Amino acid sequence: MARKGKITIDREMCKGCYLCIRACPLKILEAETVMNSSGSYPVKVINAEKCIACGNCYEVCPDVCIEVFELGEK
Ligand code: SF4
Ligand code: SF4
Repeated sequence: MARKGKITIDREMCKGCYLCIRACPLKILEAETVMNSSGSYPVKVINAEKCIACGNCYEVCPDVCIEVFELGEK
């Protein structure tokens, strides 16, 4: 059974480097089309129910914008 997870992203802190998009094994992160107040296009989660709480996105984010929560097993 895979782990089930959930993440939160601080869209105002996100600078749009997209390291997290590349790091997500399930490809469930993508850039928003709406800018934040710093002029970056922050990352959002698509298909959030697929998250496995691997923590890759958290580990690569240079600005600690992402928090990962484990929700148990799928
Ligand atoms: S915790 Fe893993 S699966 Fe979930 S969004 Fe981050 S990189 Fe993707
Ligand atoms: S790694 Fe962090 S700063 Fe870079 S796009 Fe992802 S959330 Fe934003």
